[in-house]
Amino acid sequence: MSDNTSIRVAVRVRPLLINELSKGSKEIIEVITQNDQLLVKYLEKDTPYTFDYVFPNTSIENDVYNKCVKHLIENLYKGYNVTILAYGQTGSGKTHTMGTNYSGQGDMGVIPRAVNDIFTFVKDNFSYDFVIKVSFMELYQEVLYDLLSQKPRDQCVLDIREDPTKGIHIPNLTEIEVTTASEVFKALERGTAGRATSATAMNAQSSRSHAIFSVNISMNHKEDCLNNKQATLNLVDLAGSERPKKTLATGTTFKEGVTINKGLLALGNVISFLGDEKTQHGFVPYRDSSLTRLLKDSLGGNSITLMIACISPADYNLEETVSTLRYADRAKKI
Ligand code: ADP
Ligand code: MG
Repeated sequence: MSDNTSIRVAVRVRPLLINELSKGSKEIIEVITQNDQLLVKYLEKDTPYTFDYVFPNTSIENDVYNKCVKHLIENLYKGYNVTILAYGQTGSGKTHTMGTNYSGQGDMGVIPRAVNDIFTFVKDNFSYDFVIKVSFMELYQEVLYDLLSQKPRDQCVLDIREDPTKGIHIPNLTEIEVTTASEVFKALERGTAGRATSATAMNAQSSRSHAIFSVNISMNHKEDCLNNKQATLNLVDLAGSERPKKTLATGTTFKEGVTINKGLLALGNVISFLGDEKTQHGFVPYRDSSLTRLLKDSLGGNSITLMIACISPADYNLEETVSTLRYADRAKKI
């Protein structure tokens, strides 16, 4: 595959949470499962949104993985990069869906399922020697941090470099070579822990930063080195897409809000440029943010991208939900 229109968009609706049920929140999202459409009740727009995949609030992790991720993972073994992005407001289910906090037990989101599939493939494939490495980065206020480094946080700042032959590369990034899925889960757990404890206001920070977990696969053919391949799987738990609260729009908080929006805005622009046939050979605005610079080789070109837009079904989230659906709709336009 990897036709040039290789951006897919999925929307996942989470269920109402217990605290929302107890305060009497109403669901405003209706999913028309048979044709992957979604309707926002009480809205003047009465035509449904259509996406490549729509997952209702009853969907489970296995549904999401099997329908829209599993077949993308198989492209890694052909040498295509695969990027999966979770977009949505804080509390919409990005981390739950991606499984970014997975530590070896409990609900398995996209990351642990993909990792298990990769190691199953490796175990069953006798033509290649595999070298698998993982890295974990956090992008906060345009600064990139290495989450797998053993050094103190202030010494974990990374640079994004662009090389004419190597493409985007990150000097000094910690890459851990792994031979089993459980080693990957340990790295994931370690990085997630580093992410949470390093910040003074940890919740605020994790919702305002992008987490990028990458699995790099090198396949060295045992008999024919012309058959060697390599590919990277990027799993990105994006910063919350909500706009900064007006009351907090001073000092640091304002800057945080502005910077985050810049990354998500640039990402939206890049994705819609890539999806639009007319601009495909033109200028793609990768340089507009650290997020898009970092992902430059992982979006478009030799890459397959899936955006999973996560939404809340609750009435009080209407505004942010509509904003997420519009973002996803624009990404999907091809
Ligand atoms: P985000 O990462 O977008 O801020 P989370 O993934 O942390 O959101 O989800 C917010 C809350 O909703 C968590 O308590 C999570 O367990 C719950 N949640 C999210 N998606 C689902 C789902 N599909 N089913 C059940 N609970 C969910
Ligand atoms: Mg989260």
